[in-house]
Amino acid sequence: MIGKLLATMQEHVSGHLARNHVAEIARYHRLQASPGFRQAAQYCQESFEESGIHAEVLGFPAREGTTCWGWPMFQEWEASEGVLRLIEPPEQSRKLADYNEARLSLIQRSAPFEGEAEVVLLEDGEEWAEYEGLDLRGKVVLTKGDRDRVHYLAVEKHGALGIITDTLKELPGLRHPMDLPDALQYTSFWWYGGETRCFGFVLSPKEGARLRALIKECQRDGKPPLKVQVSVKSRFWDGEINTVSALIPGQTKEEVLLLAHLCHPQGAANDNASGSATVLEAARVLQSLISRGTLAQPRRGIRFLLVPEILGFAAYLAHNESLIPNMIAALNLDMVGEDQSLCGSTMTIEQAPGSFANYADDLVVRLVEETSSGATNYAGLEGQTASRHAVTPFSGGSDHCLLIDPSVGVPCPMINQWPDKFYHTSTDTLDKVDPAMLARVGSIAATYAYFLADAGPEEAAWLAEEVLSRHKTRVLALARDGLARAAGADHSPEDGEMLWRRVRLLQMRTEKALQSILRLADVDVSAWQEEARAFAEAELARIAKLVPHSPGKTPPGDGEKEAASIVLRRLCPGPIDPKNFINRMSDEEHETWWRVYKESPDDTYVYPALLLYWADGLRNVQEISDLIELEMGKRVTEMLVTCCRLWQRLGLVELSTAS
Ligand SMILES: [Zn+2]
Repeated sequence: MIGKLLATMQEHVSGHLARNHVAEIARYHRLQASPGFRQAAQYCQESFEESGIHAEVLGFPAREGTTCWGWPMFQEWEASEGVLRLIEPPEQSRKLADYNEARLSLIQRSAPFEGEAEVVLLEDGEEWAEYEGLDLRGKVVLTKGDRDRVHYLAVEKHGALGIITDTLKELPGLRHPMDLPDALQYTSFWWYGGETRCFGFVLSPKEGARLRALIKECQRDGKPPLKVQVSVKSRFWDGEINTVSALIPGQTKEEVLLLAHLCHPQGAANDNASGSATVLEAARVLQSLISRGTLAQPRRGIRFLLVPEILGFAAYLAHNESLIPNMIAALNLDMVGEDQSLCGSTMTIEQAPGSFANYADDLVVRLVEETSSGATNYAGLEGQTASRHAVTPFSGGSDHCLLIDPSVGVPCPMINQWPDKFYHTSTDTLDKVDPAMLARVGSIAATYAYFLADAGPEEAAWLAEEVLSRHKTRVLALARDGLARAAGADHSPEDGEMLWRRVRLLQMRTEKALQSILRLADVDVSAWQEEARAFAEAELARIAKLVPHSPGKTPPGDGEKEAASIVLRRLCPGPIDPKNFINRMSDEEHETWWRVYKESPDDTYVYPALLLYWADGLRNVQEISDLIELEMGKRVTEMLVTCCRLWQRLGLVELSTAS
């Protein structure tokens, strides 16, 4: 059913035109809420218009102290100069960083400053103990530590003037900082109000190592400490955060969205000029096929949205809540142009969490698979993929996290390339972009959008079959792997129980996914649901014969008891990232949060979101923790309780006692 549509798109989508857009977009310094972003937005608006699609650049207030759903807003910012010069020892005098030569050499949103300062070396500067006996007033710190934590300890608590960072995030197995010795890490301040604003510079790992050695040498030889001259000319103002919106009208008010974030620093190509460019190219092809009559005007409109990542999309949604009931599905393109051989990346299709299982993931996987052949074996037979792809569990961190919240309720898979060796550094440049990959994702996106925009009963039935067959495959895979594990020497009775519950969760996911098809057409999905259930039950019966399962014990611990006593009630849609509220935390809350964050920074993105998604006003937090563990394989009850307490105090959620 979908093959012909996909073939039409593949024939017309041009990876080279998309790549040209990447080159153009990457020229703008497209920081969230900034003139550079606005210019990139105008470029995209004109591109839509050139394709014959009406487009507009929307603006929402960018001011401190306001919130869009759970996302605090901030001011516009722009810099005209940012120079860091080493002046002591005089024989080593040289320029270390220059914003006009390399946009990433300044920590974005640096405050203006002119003057000279001594440099103090901190190992990571993340713990109070490191500051004992240090006088940082009027000085600058050089550190690899977490930016927020160092700002809090060095600047807020110890009076430092600014921060120089030489950190480059390690991507385990793919990127060690010294693999990219000259790269600069994309680093930002986010001032949400009330903080002591300061300046900051970013050095490459190589320059950082050189400076560190020099500082130690001066200390050893009893020479005067290193000194730098700083000149930052920048300004902040109450302005706008912008979004580009373009629409191919349908026959009804309903819409399908193609979504990408347009933000990020000048030069950034795969992240996410690639996603934005792919949206532009998909839009061109769809409009041209529809206006020529090759494709009929779809039942539903197709809207294209280019936004500042998450917080800009939150601004759009919070100001356009009345449009949400008409959004029937979306697709998020975030980092999609990678040359896999250079970047080491895999194309991932991120699944919705169980709290919002829906049919759309399976549709994207089908399209990815349909476009994945290309390589042949020695006998010349097809069947191999020429590139890597994988279906991955929900991890959030991009725009789809707002839509797949059950309280928003718009199916929105994400296509992404992860991990990318050059991610968030000055080396994410145009030469890492593969036009063939852009063309592939562009065809997938255009097919997805048109198929759903025009879907009726026939397409709905086809989707139900697709969901059902993939359900069977998933149940079998889960059972096979679970049984293999349970047969291992070190298995515990809980393994059997876990397997049992995972199959049940999968069953629940599929029933929900089949139910979600009703949004497209008035079809009776009960027969498919019945077949899915029967299949899972048969597998469970087989599992029961092979491994015993006994109900799990309640996990011990104070956090667990507390979690069982809390029911969370939400006050706004969308996830809340606790990190965005550091400026409103008490010192005690800051320390508590820091302990949770330090343990696993990446987890603090996804788990709090999952907590909010499952919170229906009835389940207690321990029950939610069970569900999250089942899905993610990790129990984080204490983090969840910390979030609940913090959010309640900040007025972001309400808590009641579980009965
Ligand atoms: Zn990014």
